[in-house]
Amino acid sequence: MFEISDFNGEKNSNHILEEYYVNCISNALKRIHFGGSAYQSKLLDFDVSYQNVTSLNDIESLPFTTKADFQDNYPYGLFAVPTSEVIRIHSSSGTKSKPKIVGYTKNDIRNWGALVLRCLMMHGLSKEDIVLNSFGYGVFTGGLGLQLGVEASGATLIPASTGKTAKQIDLLRDLGATVLLSTPSFAMHLSDESEKLNFDIAKSPLRLGFMGAEPWPDNMKSQIEKRLGIKAVNIYGLSEIMGPGVGIEDPDDSNSLILWGDHFYVEIVNEKGELVPDGCYGELVITSFLKEAIPLIRYRTGDITRIIKRNGLYGVWVERIASRSDDMLIVKGVNIFPSQVGAVLCNYSDLSPYYLLEIERRGFSDNVILNVELARGKHNLERSHVYNVSENLKKYLKDELGIYIDVKMYNPGVLERFTSKRQTVNDKRENAGSGYIV
Ligand code: ADP
Repeated sequence: MFEISDFNGEKNSNHILEEYYVNCISNALKRIHFGGSAYQSKLLDFDVSYQNVTSLNDIESLPFTTKADFQDNYPYGLFAVPTSEVIRIHSSSGTKSKPKIVGYTKNDIRNWGALVLRCLMMHGLSKEDIVLNSFGYGVFTGGLGLQLGVEASGATLIPASTGKTAKQIDLLRDLGATVLLSTPSFAMHLSDESEKLNFDIAKSPLRLGFMGAEPWPDNMKSQIEKRLGIKAVNIYGLSEIMGPGVGIEDPDDSNSLILWGDHFYVEIVNEKGELVPDGCYGELVITSFLKEAIPLIRYRTGDITRIIKRNGLYGVWVERIASRSDDMLIVKGVNIFPSQVGAVLCNYSDLSPYYLLEIERRGFSDNVILNVELARGKHNLERSHVYNVSENLKKYLKDELGIYIDVKMYNPGVLERFTSKRQTVNDKRENAGSGYIV
């Protein structure tokens, strides 16, 4: 196995890059071919043979793998190795569909740990750190996946998992945690709950956070950094490809994620599945060619982004993920992403970042209600002031999103909190329309 330092900058001529990807991807196809799985049958249906992949053009004409392939071949149909070689099973959290079952061989687990380690060390995790891991343990990839990297670093791990916020605050305070691993939603919730207990996390030794599993706008990141007194780093991943650690924030540019080029082949496509030029938005497509248990060919992640730059096998820089195609709501014929609403809210100091969008059909028309809370400590605001904020927000939303959204204001702490991925939409329409925007 090569080291990432062997592949840096200009040393990667296009030729070497092409050879690397062609070799790795045809090897992955070979493993699928001899694995005898349902995946192999699909590739045969498309007339794909590992012997015929000899150039990047060949790679870019391979068929896509989609979430539907996981569903159609549930649970083991995509595995390229027998279960006797699989040492771990995980499952996606099933945000939008039936959970997807994924497996790992010994090498897969080793590679996963190595990539998570890269992500953490790149932002200064060291063996002196005490790490509170508040990602979910169990079948989800977050908890155990990040644990692999933390343990490899020699830092001290506290496997707290999700929930029981008061206990987590005790652990954080009493054990002197210096690093937090959690969803951004949980980081906000932790801060709210600590304040109620008169514990100021910003004054604790906590200095660094790795956060992901859901979109979080830049202004939410700055709020978290301020409230917890930390540097908050964006970490990206998805179970189908590996889990957390597929990508990490560039230390010099908080708006971009580095996706590891030595493990993943990265493309961006439009709705029709055509490649779009670098810089244009589209759906992120990843091929995980080194994965042994489930190598995925051209997997349509559903995540929307654009390529910012490439640096050979070091990686591909993409814009932070603000939305996924299956989050998109079509309301009164207008396409909106809930994350756009979240980003608007972060501009109001009188409002909290917690919200719930409710969509219902009244007669032939869609009606959208934004339930939102006043920020902590703002429950005593004058009624007239709250009214003005609400009217201003409606206008802002109309200007930003192009549709009228009714706003309902609540006192701080009323809306449901989530200790793992948050839910921001309750679409009560029958056959609720959601689709793909780019
Ligand atoms: P799912 O949510 O699809 O059931 P996972 O639990 O594996 O499956 O979550 C993976 C998804 O979570 C990604 O495809 C992406 O939509 C979202 N995600 C993960 N990390 C981030 C991040 N840092 N920023 C935005 N979205 C993220």
